[in-house]
Amino acid sequence: MNVARTRKIPSARGSIVVISAPSGSGKSTLIKRLLAALPGLRFSVSYTTRAPRAGERQGRDYFFVSRRVFERMIGRHEFVEWADVYGHLYGTARKQLQTAEEAGRDILLDVDVQGHRQVRKRLPEAVSIFILPPSFRELARRLRHRHSDAPQEIERRLHTARQEIAHWPEYDYLVVNDRMADAAQALRAIVRAVRFRRPNQAARARKIVGTFGG
Ligand code: ADP
Ligand code: 5GP
Repeated sequence: MNVARTRKIPSARGSIVVISAPSGSGKSTLIKRLLAALPGLRFSVSYTTRAPRAGERQGRDYFFVSRRVFERMIGRHEFVEWADVYGHLYGTARKQLQTAEEAGRDILLDVDVQGHRQVRKRLPEAVSIFILPPSFRELARRLRHRHSDAPQEIERRLHTARQEIAHWPEYDYLVVNDRMADAAQALRAIVRAVRFRRPNQAARARKIVGTFGG
């Protein structure tokens, strides 16, 4: 067993990592691998008004709610960010972030480019990663081969992808998902490095410095 892959790296303060990518670029697959490789990292389960896909579970992949429930949550300011993506509403509940923060755990947000803008404004300490597919043609191929969306929905996602990819310069890191193993390794390296950013280690450093007296 590879110890470095499974051992939790101690982090004094939980970090917030935001990942965005056009639909079909392999983000969900990469996130699953990342969460499996880094046990200290928790996934922020979003709320959405879209219907569950085959195999998706309530509370694990999303909290699937009606538009009425979602709009009530907006009215109560329960979201740290929310957006209309492909005609459905998606949002990150403040509670998700609070729970992770209280536990000092790192949290991973899978949000679209609009959500990223809002998070960046409200939580400037968050670190963001944009995933690009190797080409438009490969993105179209992956969406069609996934067999999870109707042809019309795929066309809509490809159309949106053209606008989304223009936002890559707003992110801290860029990872091209050409070979899955390489992209997965890059993501692990980034999240591990984030844990060692000075603000995330400040409390720990102060404690050590305190032992020097004076
Ligand atoms: P997203 O979450 O970005 O919409 P998925 O993770 O569902 O994308 O991936 C879309 C499809 O592309 C899936 O069928 C997945 O198995 C495939 N895929 C993901 N990454 C790669 C890759 N690096 N090479 C080839 N196929 C991939
Ligand atoms: P999907 O329907 O394929 O699961 O997700 C569609 C898009 O919604 C993806 O770009 C995904 O990143 C985005 N998304 C998922 N959850 C959230 C969220 O909580 N907030 C925002 N703004 N976007 C989200």
